[in-house]
Amino acid sequence: MTADTIDPGNGISEDAQSTPAGTGHGEASRLETIHTRLSADLVERLVGKVSIHGAVGGRTQSYSPLTGELIADYPASAPQDVRAAFETARRAQQTWATTPLSQRAKVARRLHDLLLERSEQLLDLVQIETGKARKHALDEVLSAAAATRHYAYASRGYIRPKRRRGVLPVLTKVTEARVPKGVVGIITPWNYPLALSVSDVIPALIAGNAVVHKPDTQTALTGLRLRELAVQAGLPEDLWQVVVGDGPVVGPAVIDNADYIAFTGSTATGRSVAQAAAARLVGCSLELGGKNAMLVLDDADIEKAVSGAVRGCFSSAGQLCISIERIYVHYTKYDDFLARFLTEVRAMRLGSGLDYTADMGSLTNTKQLENVTLHVEDAKAKGAKVLSGGRRRADIGPLFYEPTVLGDVKDIMRVHGDETFGPVVSVYSFKSESEVVAEANNTKYGLNASVWTRDNKRAREIAVKLHTGTVNVNEAYAAAWGSVAAPMGGMRQSGLGRRHGAEGILRFTEAQTTAQERLLPIAPWFGMSDQRWGALMLRSLKLLKTLRMK
Ligand code: NAD
Repeated sequence: MTADTIDPGNGISEDAQSTPAGTGHGEASRLETIHTRLSADLVERLVGKVSIHGAVGGRTQSYSPLTGELIADYPASAPQDVRAAFETARRAQQTWATTPLSQRAKVARRLHDLLLERSEQLLDLVQIETGKARKHALDEVLSAAAATRHYAYASRGYIRPKRRRGVLPVLTKVTEARVPKGVVGIITPWNYPLALSVSDVIPALIAGNAVVHKPDTQTALTGLRLRELAVQAGLPEDLWQVVVGDGPVVGPAVIDNADYIAFTGSTATGRSVAQAAAARLVGCSLELGGKNAMLVLDDADIEKAVSGAVRGCFSSAGQLCISIERIYVHYTKYDDFLARFLTEVRAMRLGSGLDYTADMGSLTNTKQLENVTLHVEDAKAKGAKVLSGGRRRADIGPLFYEPTVLGDVKDIMRVHGDETFGPVVSVYSFKSESEVVAEANNTKYGLNASVWTRDNKRAREIAVKLHTGTVNVNEAYAAAWGSVAAPMGGMRQSGLGRRHGAEGILRFTEAQTTAQERLLPIAPWFGMSDQRWGALMLRSLKLLKTLRMK
């Protein structure tokens, strides 16, 4: 197949072949062309769904990190387009809000099945747009399906109207309802385009909102394909608008029109999103950066900790907000851990194949490559030891960088406290539990932590001392991330609010209390004086306390 071959089927050809990934760090592997998998008609169809209402926002392109080839050329949404997208979404939301919850959830149930049926196509798209290895793209499909299933079945329990005790028992009937915010603005980054879009968009829609979604241009096709599948699953088309373009232009336009904002991205941008939301007095959830620590205690299973560390540090080439960038190992286990870890890291296969032969893929954009290079070179210049990796691999693809392990890292180095967001980890040893907890907490971030021990009680005791939104025990990040019924998010500068679980959908609703007074008013009854009424009320309150009524 050549670059301009058109596959008239689902857009991704079944017979496409890719070259095998490299072995170790030494062997190059390269796809012949991304267009052997991605057909022009699929790209054209999806690009045609960008929300454009006649304004001219220019054009914007995305290129595959795997080969450097052009993926798509989009019309950029101008601020007027974004406003028009909100108007269309707002009209559609009026009907959607009155559609029974069971029907809204049904769309999610069908979407779940489509995500699984179309998984191969989605894996190709995610790999082509992000450059990650297929097994890491698979994490996205699995997590997207799990979150969709969760909200399809659990939303009723989270948001159905609930009876609450009234001020005067029996006489006051109180219902707490959860009404949709209206039109939610959702801004997502490029690193997990499928998983992160699903975990915000799906609960927002099930809660009765419309969505205006701004994916990163780099990964907009994945967002557009996801939307197309949701429409196929029964979602009214206008309910989910996708706008594409420059973050600093399109992002603020989304915030200016939204009734609520769910933002995922860097802490710096998150801060400006929060300021803009505050100026409009609309709420926002912010899922931001991290500098996540892994604690390997003296009683840890070292073999398991080593393979957990490889998954934790190098999934999606470390471009994962909850990935591990700092490993602390008890000094009695340090040498053993490090030797085994280095052996595994050095054996990792880099590759760009659209198959399962690579252990790690590419970085996604030039900014990432520059930042990773800057962190490693700065650390080297200030005395850190490169124990493995530390090199760009242009022979494999334009943005490949080796999985890198650093030792002798000091606090004067950027890599010590700043988020690298790449395949770079620093390894330290520690002596006492209090020392390692203090070190793990010695960061402005508070997203994820990982504790390795055979003692569950000890793990729980340490977990409560860690200032992070998630603590994974004997796993790096996947246990908490995959447990979609539990909230996920950051403390400190890692964010505000949570995705997943009850909080992940309640954020897209307003609580509305309806209190209906029956038979008697909340005022003196039957000509009672204010004084007698007051005495009656005081006695009643005493009684309610005695009866332990909540
Ligand atoms: P980024 O903040 O540059 O961009 C994120 C999104 O915001 C993109 O869609 C971008 O176009 C948009 N944007 C850019 N400027 C904007 C503005 N002024 N107003 C509104 N939107 C704007 O982040 P990035 O570098 O693309 O993503 C990587 C960062 O995201 C890392 O710091 C990572 O830790 C974080 N992240 C966090 C989570 C989480 O759940 N906590 C998940 C994934 C990524």
